[in-house]
Amino acid sequence: GNGRVGVHAELTRRHRAVLPDWQALMYQQPIEITHGEGRRVWDAEGRCYLDFFGGILTTMTAHALPEVTEAIREQAGKILHSSTLYLNHHAVELAERIATLSGIEDARVFLTTSGTEANDTALLLATTFRRSNQVLAMRNAYHGRSFSAVGITGNASWAPTSLSPLQTLYVHGGVRTRGPFAELSDEEFIARCVEDLEDLLAQRRGGVAALIAEPIQGVGGFTSPPDGLYAAFKEVLDRHGVLWISDEVQTGWGRTGDHFWGWQAHGANGAPDILTFAKGIGNGLSMGGVVARAEIMNCLDANSISTFGGSPITTAGALANLNHLLERDLQGNARRVGGLLLSRLQAVAAGLSCVREVRGRGLMIGVELADGSLASAVTEAARENGLLVGKGGRQGSVLRIAPPLSLTVAEAEEGADILDTALRQAEKQATR
Ligand code: PMP
Repeated sequence: GNGRVGVHAELTRRHRAVLPDWQALMYQQPIEITHGEGRRVWDAEGRCYLDFFGGILTTMTAHALPEVTEAIREQAGKILHSSTLYLNHHAVELAERIATLSGIEDARVFLTTSGTEANDTALLLATTFRRSNQVLAMRNAYHGRSFSAVGITGNASWAPTSLSPLQTLYVHGGVRTRGPFAELSDEEFIARCVEDLEDLLAQRRGGVAALIAEPIQGVGGFTSPPDGLYAAFKEVLDRHGVLWISDEVQTGWGRTGDHFWGWQAHGANGAPDILTFAKGIGNGLSMGGVVARAEIMNCLDANSISTFGGSPITTAGALANLNHLLERDLQGNARRVGGLLLSRLQAVAAGLSCVREVRGRGLMIGVELADGSLASAVTEAARENGLLVGKGGRQGSVLRIAPPLSLTVAEAEEGADILDTALRQAEKQATR
């Protein structure tokens, strides 16, 4: 490589002196990623890695995708101003595409700069529409870092304050393998979660605005409820006039292989009233948004602007990224290559007692280990051997695997080999 040895240590020291203590960094010796291509990235010390995390799922298609780079370059050569006070043809076209893809009837789309802002807007819409600040969220959920988003986060290590503008009640069901209903069959599990939800809503006498949930919990460790849960919830919510917000920040755009949106795993009856997205759509650019029926979107009766939401440069890049995704059927690639990777990792795990479960859909695969220190050891060892993976789960015990959706079979095998070695090493240490 052409990087300089030692630059990471120096940058880490300066980072820690000036940025907040609570701003999480990966790895004991953090790295700066300086460039990327395809499914690979390089760090400031010149080392190359196969990227199985895409900067927490922000690289949707590929690193340095020429069409995206060209769209950004072309727009940057014209103007960089940003204001929702003026028309922007990229934003209109992107919103049209997303409205159609969303499956929401009479859809309106509002573009934001992040997932947090998208969820914040969804909560603003739902609470205003229903004139209530009571919301339901799933245990162990993560929805962002704003005041309203941390107020609904069901994972204490990502919720720095117990103060909240919202009254939040937590619902069972986001995690199939933990909690009071863990021993039940899928059908019984859904029935009990629905009963629990009915009970919660009966107590509230119709005063709840919305349920917000991630179809597959991201930060929570890529856990899935049984298929059909959110459709069963939706039937109850409709009866109580409660809106259903699907947070598709991690599960959207075909990542889960079989479906374009995560909620679709639950069947057509599980369609959300409001859908939020971010991360992958911008392929690294700051882009998010909210989709809702016009009746809900237009319930705000004051003016609003977003200076940077849907700016010309981010929408130009996002549009090129989305076109590439659809033209190349990267959802199909996620299904095929993700399926191979999942079975390969399940085979690796079969012989290892340190692995609790290998689960996932498409290119969203979680490897749950016996504890968080094992997961740290595996992520560090994988990095040493040239592979970046993420971590998640309540105890930080889950490896999160979410490569760019253009991953090839050869790259899937290369990454699986590195994980195989790292997991065996961890197993030896754990059983010593
Ligand atoms: N929702 C989910 C499901 C997420 O995973 C995240 C980010 N990890 C967010 C919302 C917040 O998005 P952002 O970091 O872009 O604000």
